[in-house]
Amino acid sequence: MSGNVGSKCRTCREPAIIDLARHNANFCAEHFLELCRRQVTKAIEKYEMFDRDDRILVAVSGGKDSLAVWDLLIELGYQADGLYVGLGIGEYSDVSGEYAQRFADERGLRLITISLRGEYGYDIPTASKATRRVPCSACGLSKRHLFDKAALDGGYTAVVTGHNLDDEAAVLLGNTMRWEIDYLARQLPVLPARNGFPKKVKPLVRLTERETAAWCIVRGIDYLVDECPMAAGNRHLGYKDTLNAMEAQSPGSKAAFYLNFIDRMAPLLADHATVERESVHACSECGAPTSGDVCAFCRLVATASAHEPVSVPMMLKGRR
Ligand code: SF4
Ligand code: ZN
Repeated sequence: MSGNVGSKCRTCREPAIIDLARHNANFCAEHFLELCRRQVTKAIEKYEMFDRDDRILVAVSGGKDSLAVWDLLIELGYQADGLYVGLGIGEYSDVSGEYAQRFADERGLRLITISLRGEYGYDIPTASKATRRVPCSACGLSKRHLFDKAALDGGYTAVVTGHNLDDEAAVLLGNTMRWEIDYLARQLPVLPARNGFPKKVKPLVRLTERETAAWCIVRGIDYLVDECPMAAGNRHLGYKDTLNAMEAQSPGSKAAFYLNFIDRMAPLLADHATVERESVHACSECGAPTSGDVCAFCRLVATASAHEPVSVPMMLKGRR
């Protein structure tokens, strides 16, 4: 995260610790943190994410983005608790849970934890095998359901995730490449509460992953650097590489691609976003909103919990 040797902070002219080509400037630690706070505040206010009366539930993984967003929200004076879901992805999950818990304990914050294996009788490697789908599919479904449920049960008014500019731009590129209009219509930094689903917000959409990592380093936040072992082959990683190559040629292009989509294109797709989810009712098993009789999560639990447990090394071997 170093600045150019001898470079000076744009704001105070003290030695810089980071160069941000897209802002065409270098920053010292203090003014880098200030820039991050400003970007997050701008996202919260511009997209009307929440205010200080809201009770926020942060989806915490133990990685840099979720810990950075939790830290930023607390620093900015918001009421935010954390939720960690133990996915049972071998050592990765054990260690990530420790990082999340340590962060909360050191700051006296409330972290709710849920164990998929302990409470629902399955884990992600097993769910993937049992459903014969990629791990991220069962994982995304499980996390969405559990975040929604915890938010509604706990009286939280918004669920926050740590998706950053790189994540959102990569998903946007993927959806654009295939002209996935329905997905594009919903790719917003705020999804309002409706039909029994809580509001979902992404306050880090104006910060890159390099910036969230730098935030953690400057703030002394210990986070799990390793990626989830199930992420290998995830096509979003390829889209990130593509966008990074373009960004290197033309600093600022990544932010322009995503933020201009939100400002200029998303409003044109608004009608599409409201059509879906019109005919939902309560799942006959768990009461969650669903378009079928039994929701996808309850069906996943039934299939995955009946399957004999699969370990992470077996899972990875099976994918080669
Ligand atoms: Fe879940 Fe996939 Fe993310 Fe791993 S990479 S935590 S399996 S969504
Ligand atoms: Zn259900």
